[in-house]
Amino acid sequence: MGSVIDYSECPNCGQECYNEFYYKTGEEYIFCNSCGYNYSAEYKTNEYGGYLTKDGTDNYSFDNLTLEVKELKNPYCAYKMKNYGSIGFQCGSLSNEDEYYELRGFAQTNESVEFASVSMLVDGKIVEEVLVDNGPKVDSAGFIHDDNVYHFDDWVNHMLSNSDYTESELMEFELYYENLLHFDMNTSNFINFNQKNKY
Ligand SMILES: [Zn+2]
Repeated sequence: MGSVIDYSECPNCGQECYNEFYYKTGEEYIFCNSCGYNYSAEYKTNEYGGYLTKDGTDNYSFDNLTLEVKELKNPYCAYKMKNYGSIGFQCGSLSNEDEYYELRGFAQTNESVEFASVSMLVDGKIVEEVLVDNGPKVDSAGFIHDDNVYHFDDWVNHMLSNSDYTESELMEFELYYENLLHFDMNTSNFINFNQKNKY
């Protein structure tokens, strides 16, 4: 669906905010990651994301759809959160203090959360608070893994210091190495590969 992404001034806090306009349908989405202001004008959809028509038929012309406008004018805060293994941040708005405590409790006790912070408008200023920052995961061999990718070079270094295999033997395995598998899995695949190669 064609859309234009732009940055405009947030009507709540005056900071730059994200604005996406779907020029084919007229739908619009605004989100401010400084204060949590958000606005959306979207056609009503069912639980599978398909448009709901006014008369229940398959006539998807715009006058047979319902444009739903939602606006959070006085948000409590904006949040962003990152889980281990996921690529990007999850962003959104919280509308009151209860939601804030709920998110904070979740982020600080859930082991899958790598990072979470909130940002809010207080007395005309944007205040950011880091709720939890657990940093990247480090495995038993001391290697840092971003997004559970186990790099070949790290594995080679790991094997050089933990086994009698030579670097050239290990390098032969490069094509067969799978960087989404943990070192142990690759090592056992490598051992099979290496034995087959010998005989
Ligand atoms: Zn704002």
